[in-house]
Amino acid sequence: MGEWGRCYNDAMKVLLVEDETRISDFVKKGLAEAGFDVTVSNHGDEGYELAANQTFDVIVLDIMLPGRDGLSILRQLRDQRKAVPVILLTARTTLDERLEGLNLGADDYLTKPFYVEELIARIQAVMRRSSGEKLTTLHAGDVSVNLVTREVTRSGEPVHLTVREFALLEYLLRTPGRVYARTQIIEHVWGYDFDPTTNLVDVHIQRLRKKLDPPEGESLIETVRGVGYRIRKD
Ligand code: CA
Repeated sequence: MGEWGRCYNDAMKVLLVEDETRISDFVKKGLAEAGFDVTVSNHGDEGYELAANQTFDVIVLDIMLPGRDGLSILRQLRDQRKAVPVILLTARTTLDERLEGLNLGADDYLTKPFYVEELIARIQAVMRRSSGEKLTTLHAGDVSVNLVTREVTRSGEPVHLTVREFALLEYLLRTPGRVYARTQIIEHVWGYDFDPTTNLVDVHIQRLRKKLDPPEGESLIETVRGVGYRIRKD
């Protein structure tokens, strides 16, 4: 993702989608004073177009909007695998709406009315989370995988993996506990052209275990008999 290379002295780009101009005006002013570069849209359809086609560091999204509502904008962005942090603004304190938002991949929400300082604090918190360790490093047990530098460590010691081994480990680590079938793994790591009856997956799993597992104790990668493999959940 391009965002990783961003210089820290660039102004953070915020997209604010809010139809009540009274609110969007005061939020824009407050954010601009805090040094953010703010783009405002007062309509859900326009807000979605901006969010889908331009790069922002964070999106502040009202739920009740003319045109597309905030939750459908969020759903569409996540369907397109856009990982930009999203903070929802909710008019009501309806638990359902907030839960739906968080389930759809919102990073945080703020209930109106709110102080702009509170919004700034939330923006800074989601920015720290999204640019920090959480998204660049995957962990399981004492194994860490840095997706940017592609360094793998076990108990802090570097482990050398081949390209395929890395791809396989990364795939499994994306969702610890989830079982991946051999065919899924083949398709993802080797591509559709590979014969699904090959034992490539099993061979690579054995290699990963050799490199990553402690001399005794349970393997990081669990075999689910008749199905496939998963990363053992802590
Ligand atoms: Ca609204």
